[in-house]
Amino acid sequence: MLRLILSTLLFSFPALAQPTASVIDGPLSARSFRPESTPQDGVIKSYFESASPLAIEFFEHISLLSNSWLGGRQPGTQGSKLAGEYITWNLERSGLTPAFDTQSSWYQPFLFDVDGTPPIVKKAFVAIEDMALVDGRDFVVLGNSGTGDISAPITFVGYAIEDGENGYSSFDENTDLTGQVALMLRYEPLDAVGVSQWASRRFGTHSNIKDKMKAVIDRGAVGVILVNPPNCRDGRRGLEKNRSSRFGKTNIPIVHFTEDAANIALGSQATIAELQILADAGEISTKTLNQQASLLTEVESTDLQAQNIAGFLQGRGELADEWLVIGSHYDHVGYGYTGTSSPGILHRGADDNASGTSANLILARLFSDYYSITEEESLRSVLFIFFDGEEAGLRGSAHFVKEPTMELDSVNAMINLDMVGSLRNSTISISGTGTAIEFEVFIPEIIEQTTLTASLTPSGTGASDHTNFYAKDIPVLFFFTGMTPEYHTPADQAYTTNPSGGAIVTELTYAFAMRLLKDEKLTFSTNTRGGAGRSSSMPSPVRLGVHPSYSAMIETGILLTGVSEDTSASDAGLQAEDVLLAWNDIELTGGRKLMELLRESSPGDVVEFTVQRGGENIIVDVTLRAP
Ligand SMILES: [Zn+2]
Repeated sequence: MLRLILSTLLFSFPALAQPTASVIDGPLSARSFRPESTPQDGVIKSYFESASPLAIEFFEHISLLSNSWLGGRQPGTQGSKLAGEYITWNLERSGLTPAFDTQSSWYQPFLFDVDGTPPIVKKAFVAIEDMALVDGRDFVVLGNSGTGDISAPITFVGYAIEDGENGYSSFDENTDLTGQVALMLRYEPLDAVGVSQWASRRFGTHSNIKDKMKAVIDRGAVGVILVNPPNCRDGRRGLEKNRSSRFGKTNIPIVHFTEDAANIALGSQATIAELQILADAGEISTKTLNQQASLLTEVESTDLQAQNIAGFLQGRGELADEWLVIGSHYDHVGYGYTGTSSPGILHRGADDNASGTSANLILARLFSDYYSITEEESLRSVLFIFFDGEEAGLRGSAHFVKEPTMELDSVNAMINLDMVGSLRNSTISISGTGTAIEFEVFIPEIIEQTTLTASLTPSGTGASDHTNFYAKDIPVLFFFTGMTPEYHTPADQAYTTNPSGGAIVTELTYAFAMRLLKDEKLTFSTNTRGGAGRSSSMPSPVRLGVHPSYSAMIETGILLTGVSEDTSASDAGLQAEDVLLAWNDIELTGGRKLMELLRESSPGDVVEFTVQRGGENIIVDVTLRAP
């Protein structure tokens, strides 16, 4: 059986039958790629009568993975665990080696928060001496608070800035806050009219709330009271309403006080406005008060427990230490915890992405067979990886590139299979075709052996997991059979997919992977601007070097998932998780606006970006470089 399917693949590749292939320029956005559909009567009969063994295998996988038992494969659920059991059972019987924990586990667990969902505050009680304050009126518990129950003396710590401009520091060399509650001003030193002394607009990097929290926690603080500087012109007003998880995470109680509540905390010793003036002038370091704060917080994390799954085939010869990564996310949106307009209803996610998962399982089996029979002397190693948490913002692939199982610069290429179950009119979208110099020749060579039309898009970023590999300067190829009316709805079910098409995509991926396992190592390229792979004759004038998130739920601005090394962006210190809000005075409403502005720029231009980092807005000057 195995051999039969293998020989089917090698010798009667249906897509290879009568080459009528063509290569066309891709759509501007993967979301708009939707080839014509040709509905016909008796579709199931025709599928299965003409289906190859590979198509039937594909349909078995996709049917199981989109079965209602699996509950739409939301990370952390029982259904997700069942999907994991099915995937690992297949990898094991195909003879792969587990990729994690020194080859002892198929799983790579990780936690993630959904769209910055804050923790749930179950208990919040604050008192100064014996006076209880009112939750929501006098104080709120912040999203970075931990759980705790403390009663401790209060120490005013100014702005809690370690190393400010011109030698400014809120601390002495030996400042010890052990067993103290730190009463901290938000932002950074202001002038007489409440404007930052250090930033030309709003606030500079020293106002970063994560750094300020770290400074007091490292000195032993057991709780933090944050208060807005009373005369601040550019800051937020009132109590923080958004319990954002952007402020990071701590394991001590962290509360935000109104000005009145802060004055209660200070007792008769001073007002917060008076202390702010001293802190603005740099005339105060810490000041311990004769007041006791009681902070009781019980905070429940809303993080989901997710897990990537992977197995590998060991390479051989001189290429053995280089890798090909074939990835597909196996998670979906479950009962609509994210990414859907129908929450509460089962989303089976057949095309998205039981289809890519099915293709990947078949590829693992086929390559395992190939590696056991071939006499090839030199082959790269292959990782078959199944990402979790993709639907919530490419979380699994982000985690993997942070904690990879190999040196990332030893990865020749990453192939991503996401939504490959709806092939129509033999037209497939391939993105990332501009991410390696060799692709310009290599891709048409393979496509021309098939009857497929390949719609090429050079960009290495998009709304799926390859984006995180491209961000690490790895050539990527993203295979996609186009949008469907069922996308992210409860109607995305196994019977709406095209199993024969799935088999064709699997075979096409096999042909690509074979080259990527044997050919000379690819040359990474970032020249991905323009309409198609052949746009390399028109280089763009500048490159910023940032990787925008395409799935972040933010109203405006561009959330960065990463920054390429040695680029304009890395020179200027832009970081993952920064949100780019404005370019000089122009609001950045999204990636398209950014591209437009970059196209109009010249090397050497300096752009003043307004960047949200750690809950504060800062200005970052970026000198644009040629690509
Ligand atoms: Zn999806």
